[in-house]
Amino acid sequence: MFEGWKYQKIFDHFQKICEIPHGSYHEEALSEYVYQFALSQGYTAMRDTCHNVLVRIPASEGREQEPSYLFQGHLDMVCEKEADISHDFLKDPIKIHSEEDWLMAEGTTLGGDDGIAVAYMLALMEEASQISHPSLELLMTSAEEVGMDGAKALDPLWIQARRMINLDSEKEGEFIVGGAGGMRVEVHHPLQRTSVPEGYLPVEVKVSGLRGGHSGEDIHKQRGNANVILGKYLFGWYNHCPDTLMVSLNGGSKDNAIPREATARIWIPESLYEHAQRGCWWFGEDLAKEYAESDPGALITMRIADPSVESGWQYLPMNSDVTGEVVNFLHLCPNGVRSMSKDFGGIVESSQNIAVLCTEEDDWYCRISMRSNRSELLSNMLNRIRIMAEMSGMNCIKGSEYPAWDYKKESPLRDQLYHVFQQMYGTDPEIRILHAGLECGILASKIPNMDIVSMGPNMENVHSPQERLSISSVQRVWEFLVHFLEERKE
Ligand SMILES: [Zn+2]
Repeated sequence: MFEGWKYQKIFDHFQKICEIPHGSYHEEALSEYVYQFALSQGYTAMRDTCHNVLVRIPASEGREQEPSYLFQGHLDMVCEKEADISHDFLKDPIKIHSEEDWLMAEGTTLGGDDGIAVAYMLALMEEASQISHPSLELLMTSAEEVGMDGAKALDPLWIQARRMINLDSEKEGEFIVGGAGGMRVEVHHPLQRTSVPEGYLPVEVKVSGLRGGHSGEDIHKQRGNANVILGKYLFGWYNHCPDTLMVSLNGGSKDNAIPREATARIWIPESLYEHAQRGCWWFGEDLAKEYAESDPGALITMRIADPSVESGWQYLPMNSDVTGEVVNFLHLCPNGVRSMSKDFGGIVESSQNIAVLCTEEDDWYCRISMRSNRSELLSNMLNRIRIMAEMSGMNCIKGSEYPAWDYKKESPLRDQLYHVFQQMYGTDPEIRILHAGLECGILASKIPNMDIVSMGPNMENVHSPQERLSISSVQRVWEFLVHFLEERKE
């Protein structure tokens, strides 16, 4: 398929990777393939029970005294497909084709994220004898897309290098030099159910039509958060009618997504229903104006619910003090961008996403995901939520977390890459930090004094069936890496 292409080997390796199913938690076969390939090329290689692989390539003659470099990428890919495609990610190869400058799959994710890093490393193993280079370590990790389990489990003693190039970024000419850490927090309110007072009507209020997006990389776009919008509506209504009784308040589904829909079920005095409808309509008018740019489909609707369709507690109200506390907490809880970076103009430094609201018979809870590019800010944000929760009679439970990759003012690796880029292209590369998590944060926290830069070829729409990888960019980035290696280092 790639006959006669420049650096054909990289694309051949990439195709081979596509033939081996490698969704997250199913990296074993690809891990074994890469490991065996390294051995077949005569290198020392290691594997652990998480399927992480490390390969050591000795320095070219005369370059043994230079610092070692670690190249790193992840073995797993996100498995997404179009609804009308039949594809078994556990068995079927990813079918690839090219259109103009783009490599893409047929109705599925391509896995360029991060298969191209693995392809580069396989090509490096094969080509190392043709390139002058210092000693190299190639690290391929597992389960990056589902919590970075591989990087977390890695034995840091495997790694000797103190300069690391992560190949998991998606824009050529951009060097990423910092990333966010994250923490999940849950706030629980235990509750009891009571009976419905005489003369009350069950009402359902729903916020929908929002665009959502990634809770890190899209947070600066100020898109509507369905949980927050519904919380604002309920706060207004509750202050107007404190006799309102809440049954349930649910919204969002994923920690790392901005919630697009939320629904509340409440009981209100029947005599106030028309009034409530009018209030909801006015709220909807304001909503449409406020989010005209970011979420043109934003909508709030109200209807009378039918308690006969569900049994059990599904229509029993919470006791009234809980209703007030839940409404107040949601109204108070910060959401969205919390602070901006002082080193990088226009880049978000810390943010908070009220991701999931969930009601059970005896518990209401809210899951919040927090991110920050400065480690110390996360504990600040956690403390604030903890105090708010305690004031509202709730329990705050800290969930999983991963460390920030803090920006380093001094970075010899960044300077070297910058220099080679300028030499090759006559322009300056972009230096950026990301408001999202990368394995670099975990590796930086495990390996002392690790100097890290993340880069990669142009890729678009990753994690979706529209994912595509630029062919010419793959070729240029390879040339860049080879140039970089051939340059002598202090
Ligand atoms: Zn990736």
